[in-house]
Amino acid sequence: MGPTGKTRIVQIHPTRKCNLSCKHCYSSSSPQESESLEPAVLKDALDDLADEGYDWVSFSGGEPLVYEPLAELLSHAKGIQMQTSLVSNGMLLTGARLDAIENDINALVMSLDGKPDSHNTMRNSSRAFETMERNLSQLRRRGISFGFLFTLTQNNLDELPWVVEFCLKSGASGLMIHPLENTGNATTQLSGKAPDTIESTHAWLLVEHLKKKLGGRLNIQLDLIHTSAFEQSPDQFFLGDYATPLQGRLAELLSVLVIEPDGEVVPLQYGFPREYSLGNLRDCRISDMVSGWQNRLGPELNKLSTGLYSSLENAGNGCFINWYERLGLYARQTRTVSLPIRRTAWNMSTAGVA
Ligand code: SF4
Repeated sequence: MGPTGKTRIVQIHPTRKCNLSCKHCYSSSSPQESESLEPAVLKDALDDLADEGYDWVSFSGGEPLVYEPLAELLSHAKGIQMQTSLVSNGMLLTGARLDAIENDINALVMSLDGKPDSHNTMRNSSRAFETMERNLSQLRRRGISFGFLFTLTQNNLDELPWVVEFCLKSGASGLMIHPLENTGNATTQLSGKAPDTIESTHAWLLVEHLKKKLGGRLNIQLDLIHTSAFEQSPDQFFLGDYATPLQGRLAELLSVLVIEPDGEVVPLQYGFPREYSLGNLRDCRISDMVSGWQNRLGPELNKLSTGLYSSLENAGNGCFINWYERLGLYARQTRTVSLPIRRTAWNMSTAGVA
């Protein structure tokens, strides 16, 4: 169940503190937030996750560069043979900060929300684009590989060709395109701006056109999948057995694991409904959460996925969707399972409730 490629990745959001307060921020991060995880807790988690087969760790936020123990954690991750990446708004990538981390990062992804005015509007900052762009020369000079992350809305697909040109001119190696989700700040500041199915289809067509035109000069990834793909590779979409406990290391069962700033460990993406959470790092270690996942939560996630797949199939026409987001929405809409909100490891409490 779950692997979507060779990479087994854990996304760590160590803090909700950020130097910006963006309109589309999924975690509602801002300069006023202070919630953060202790580095010792995260080091223990990384050790356990490496044992469970995870080979990449991605730090985002909040802004990971305002999290003071970042360098220490990156170094720890490299020391246990994990690959590392940062997702940053790019404004704080100055000399001193880069000095502390450059030897311990494999990839750097920066946000880019369109042309300068669009980027600054989305970021609620008149200097966001200019500052990020100025810092790119440091990355090139130091030979740090970087890419960009573009948030697709209902209204900004026309800026994608400009974004691609900017990526090429600046020496980026990749561009990820992620559809806006109606969560965090977007629920109030960008309500109704998530791309609908028609816009998503147009985005897919444009991306295919751009890929062909570029002939491999830029690695472009669009986080949308056509529903017909489920039949071709059901395992990738958790359409597996949900009657029996799952077997194997956690990374083979769940290829994306997320650690949120309050220590909650959730599957697939930030904000995934906590009924499916593995547990909280402040209560127990990852190694104590695994058997609960294998015995109950993993099969329940398979059951949820199969239910969503059936409902999409019954709806008729295929379409492009953001699978993880749809799965989370479906979990909230249906509440088909009566899983208690997780607070302790399943194998530490038979009831498993707070
Ligand atoms: S989207 Fe990123 S840069 Fe913007 S407030 Fe959220 S964490 Fe900070």
